[in-house]
Amino acid sequence: MKLYEQYPVSLSNSLSGKKELFKPIIPGFVGMYVCGPTVYNNVHLGNTRTFLTFDIISRYFRFLGYKVRYVRNITDVGHLENDDDQGEDKIGKKARLEQLEPMEVVKKYTEDFHSVMRQFNILPPSIEPTATGHIVEQIEITKKLLDLGLAYEVNGSVYFDVKKYHQSHSYGILSGRNIEELIESGRDLDSQDEKRDKIDFALWKKASPSHIMRWPSPWGDGFPGWHIECTVMSTKYLGEQFDIHGGGMDLKFPHHECEIAQGTGANGKAPVHYWIHSNMLTVNGQKMSKSLGNSFLPSELFSGSHPMLQRGYTPMAVRFFMLQSHYSSTLDFSNEALQAAEKGYKKLSSALKTLRELSHPGTSMPDPSANESLESLVQTCYKEMSDDFNTAKTLAVLFEMASRINDMKSGNLPLSSLEVENFNSFANAYTGFMENVLGLKEESGSDEKLLDGTIGVLIGLRKKARADRNFALSDKIRDELKSIGIQLKDGKDGEITWSAE
Ligand code: AMP
Ligand code: ZN
Repeated sequence: MKLYEQYPVSLSNSLSGKKELFKPIIPGFVGMYVCGPTVYNNVHLGNTRTFLTFDIISRYFRFLGYKVRYVRNITDVGHLENDDDQGEDKIGKKARLEQLEPMEVVKKYTEDFHSVMRQFNILPPSIEPTATGHIVEQIEITKKLLDLGLAYEVNGSVYFDVKKYHQSHSYGILSGRNIEELIESGRDLDSQDEKRDKIDFALWKKASPSHIMRWPSPWGDGFPGWHIECTVMSTKYLGEQFDIHGGGMDLKFPHHECEIAQGTGANGKAPVHYWIHSNMLTVNGQKMSKSLGNSFLPSELFSGSHPMLQRGYTPMAVRFFMLQSHYSSTLDFSNEALQAAEKGYKKLSSALKTLRELSHPGTSMPDPSANESLESLVQTCYKEMSDDFNTAKTLAVLFEMASRINDMKSGNLPLSSLEVENFNSFANAYTGFMENVLGLKEESGSDEKLLDGTIGVLIGLRKKARADRNFALSDKIRDELKSIGIQLKDGKDGEITWSAE
């Protein structure tokens, strides 16, 4: 029996507003699309929370034995400053201000994004497509929507006709917004607007003569709207209908609502079975955002170089901090919470080290209740994660497991009382949930460990040279290490130790 059959996953589907049992379209396979960053700025800690949520979700599906195709795009064109299709393209504007080619802006911030993801041990997706790499497909679907009568062209731009779509489908099903209210509220169209209705949105925009990012199209030179890229890239790599679509809560409307309308309009069926939205990282209750001026960068967090930070924190302490709350709740940043997370992470990672050093001597005085209690902790780990990826509760179980590990080491829980099979299943679960599911990798002292190992190899070579009476080589190893500040000391018993000068 596969693990995913043993521990079925339930998840909060934003579409129904309920927790639902996950049923994949293809058995054993998960297709997941997550809106990636708009690469015109350094990613801040808030963005990182959203990508961490989907890292955990894809890791857990894989851990359960699913094959996962995880597509996360890079938005490198078409996201205007205002969701209302107003203003300048964010990337084009940055290029103009910094006097760079737009693709230089894109490269710079894509690299920053990747490096932040690596630091937090957020795994790369299976496919990372870019919007500019899919202009042809975006033009094709725009043509299709025009042919279907769901879009109209005005003066070189093409807009999606929301009212028309709503006649046969339902606009607003994801966000719960009511189309009449949307029409009544908000800004009225002014004389310069080309849209028939203010709730319509751009599929293709005409490029003004000064607009740098432009492509030829049947409607003249222009560039794609923001929402259409995700419809195109998710369909291309996951099909017209796929399992999971994710993103931050702030993308629910209009971005994801528009994606549903475009996909359903073009292909006649709803594109996504489960919509998952990750909640916001807040600062004093307010969404962390570059434009509100309350954001800081991961690099500032590591070094502590920001007025809001009392000191620096390591990437794993921050990862732990984020995992301590459920992805669907808001999470408020504070130094106190980070310091508590740092302690929590150290406790769990030191138990992992202890566990690695334990070796089972064979069972000689079996204690059924101790064995059962270990097994039940393993089961609870799976159950908590399968219950809507509850990392907070899984961490609570891992703390309980860590205290058992410490008892094993101290002898309060003798290893000889545990069945080997039980001990192994417990050890595999603890290691697997820590490293593979929660991605909490060992952090402290890894450089020292590497150095210690490397010098150990050289010490071994020196011992061998001496045994072979090759004193020239043995002295050379000692002297060259000394020249870089490493002192070898010969002990009485032939052991060699080292210290840094
Ligand atoms: P952007 O590059 O602005 O499109 O954002 C990239 C991702 O980060 C999107 O999924 C946003 O929903 C998400 N995001 C933005 N701000 C926050 C925040 N304060 N907390 C959590 N996620 C956020
Ligand atoms: Zn998107």
